[in-house]
Amino acid sequence: MELVFNKGYICSGCNGHFRKRDASFIYKRSCICKTCYSRFMPYSKDMYHEERDGMAFMAALFRYREPYRKIFLEFKFNGQIAAGHLIGMAMEELIKERDAFYDYQYLVPVPVSKERMNERGYNQSEILAQYIAKGLGIPIRDIMIRVRNSLPQSRIMHHNRAKNVKNAFDVTEKLNGENIILFDDVYTTGSTAMECVNVLHNAGAGKVCVVAGAYNAPVYVDRTIYLN
Ligand SMILES: [Zn+2]
Repeated sequence: MELVFNKGYICSGCNGHFRKRDASFIYKRSCICKTCYSRFMPYSKDMYHEERDGMAFMAALFRYREPYRKIFLEFKFNGQIAAGHLIGMAMEELIKERDAFYDYQYLVPVPVSKERMNERGYNQSEILAQYIAKGLGIPIRDIMIRVRNSLPQSRIMHHNRAKNVKNAFDVTEKLNGENIILFDDVYTTGSTAMECVNVLHNAGAGKVCVVAGAYNAPVYVDRTIYLN
């Protein structure tokens, strides 16, 4: 019994103990078990995809619901870095060899505020971005900064979110028509992403698309299309 326990990995989605062969991803003592993973995969294979004025497209790797919602929350607010690596590994797997991204040169993460980074001791967006960049085979170009602290979007009513992030971002260098993939961890109304996309266009970017870790649809509308 003790042997099984010692060899077990705890699933960040359901808290169950699993052996290696029953886990889809393992990071240290954490895993995502095959059941939690399979609950999500049919959606993730298709990728949520939204057309929106001003951006090439938005593609989300997961829907912000269980078990991934819990894993995101553990990572973002409970200091569970292992949970982030698990999501990251799943993201890398999901985004690999997608034709939709073939003519994009750089991945630019949405910057988090210094205050919030100090609270947590790590930049969660950066950890996830590293896996995405690896999956896409392109470098991260960390050129966006926050020029003023906005309130966390999760605390703001949906219709006030665009105002909350207005003029909150800037770039540290100009671009020369490069096509950029903007990475945001959780996409809800898209206000943060749109603000960043506009800043990138003003800085000289070519096409800008958005890759979100999770899509937190206020009302779920199935507009999923295949993104190969
Ligand atoms: Zn599980």
